[in-house]
Amino acid sequence: MRALRTVWTRMGFLRSLRFRLTLSYVLFFTVLLVAVGLLFRRTLQLEMDGDTRATLEEEWAAAKGYLHIEKGHPVWVVDTSDPEETYIVEHLKHVYMLADAGGKVLESSQTYDSIGVDSPRDIQRILRNSTQEVRVRHDADGVPYMIRAGAIRGQRGNLYFFAMGRSIEANQRTVDNFMRSYYFLMLPGAIFVTGLLGWLLAGRAIRPLNLVAATAQEITGSKLSLRIPRRGANDELDNLIDSFNRMTARLSRSFDQIRQFSTDVSHELRTPLTAIRGQLEVALFTAERPEQFRDAMANALEDVENLSSIVRALLLLSQAESGQLALQKAALDLHKVAADVVDQFQIPAEEKGVKLTATLEPGATAMVDRTQMERLLSNLLSNAVKYTPEGGTVSVRVGPDEIHGWVRLVVDDTGVGIPQENLPHIFDRFYRVRSVETRQIQGLGLGLSFVAWIVSAHQGTIQTVSNEGKGSCFTVRLPMGMAAALEPAVEPASASL
Ligand code: ADP
Repeated sequence: MRALRTVWTRMGFLRSLRFRLTLSYVLFFTVLLVAVGLLFRRTLQLEMDGDTRATLEEEWAAAKGYLHIEKGHPVWVVDTSDPEETYIVEHLKHVYMLADAGGKVLESSQTYDSIGVDSPRDIQRILRNSTQEVRVRHDADGVPYMIRAGAIRGQRGNLYFFAMGRSIEANQRTVDNFMRSYYFLMLPGAIFVTGLLGWLLAGRAIRPLNLVAATAQEITGSKLSLRIPRRGANDELDNLIDSFNRMTARLSRSFDQIRQFSTDVSHELRTPLTAIRGQLEVALFTAERPEQFRDAMANALEDVENLSSIVRALLLLSQAESGQLALQKAALDLHKVAADVVDQFQIPAEEKGVKLTATLEPGATAMVDRTQMERLLSNLLSNAVKYTPEGGTVSVRVGPDEIHGWVRLVVDDTGVGIPQENLPHIFDRFYRVRSVETRQIQGLGLGLSFVAWIVSAHQGTIQTVSNEGKGSCFTVRLPMGMAAALEPAVEPASASL
């Protein structure tokens, strides 16, 4: 068994698609050609037997003319001076038999005897029904004869049984010879040519597949720009090539994001680390009094806290995006959740001199995870308060949406706004708008990444409208009630933002 498997593995080409395609062609054509051969054999046989039967009918009618039955005795009326006529009658009398109505044989040829004379019962049946019968019978040597039997009338009007036969051995031989040359010469030749053609065609058909395989092997993390050229045939293979190219483009984008993410993370971690190191070095080399050490340590601790919050947020985000953060969805009226979160932000908003208002309508029930909804609203509200200068307003609106079956959460502010060119990137990790207004404002650039994930994990959408210097408006829409529960979970990346 093992030896067999080794041979099979070594003969890897036997499992190749090209070989299997060729084998399928060959098998299909072999079955087809065998079937055609059988059909042809049958048609040829029927055709030849039909000819023989027509000839036999003519001979039977001719024999009837020469054969007279006088007083129960058969008399062949032949002009013996005419050699042609004598020959014809001799030929007709080669296979024949004559019997009376009782089934008694009056005369029969030697060949007919060897085929076997008809039984009285058969004779009586044919005479009674005055039918004619044609059938194939074999003589003692197995030679096939076509026999035509029927009734003829004697001089006195009595019915007699008369049968004549003709060998169909030649027909059989012709058919057999034809089949022999068809099956032993033409068929192997046709199979060989089919195999050859199949091999060439299969080779041509799978050439683009080999190209895809070769290109796929060349692709590495640093060579993701490789694309397979389309053949322009717009067929399944071009579809495959398109899908493959699209997949490589997606991979390339993912790799770029990962690269960018690593750069961002290292940068974000390096800044507080450098600050800590600086503070500790200064303290170590220059501080003399305990207060100076304490100050340095307090500053370092603040940066360590900063580092920890970055790491915590990153961990949470990666858990969320890798599906490790299970959502506990329940039907919740979002206006209650919003009321709690707005309450928490009243004091920080007041401290900053920002007016925080809320319009919360009941009836905004959706299947949501409460913790994540609180996080979503907190992040949006914290940004709104953070990026709205003193004297500005932040308003929260929650309620059923104009679009039937959806609820809407809106966080609107009169803050610094977001420049149009930055808008497409604000949901990217670590992305922060670096402008004069925002430079002094603390942040990690991860808040909106969370918002994006939470929205997509609830099969919702988020829309941002912002005017630089005038304010921003974030609108989140979530499917209402049980509809959300029935929807299948969607990957975060596929959410529309
Ligand atoms: P951050 O921690 O920097 O606030 P976010 O991911 O929450 O990070 O936001 C990304 C960036 O989007 C912010 O740095 C800010 O430039 C911009 N942004 C978010 N919300 C607002 C807002 N309400 N007004 C103005 N800019 C905003």
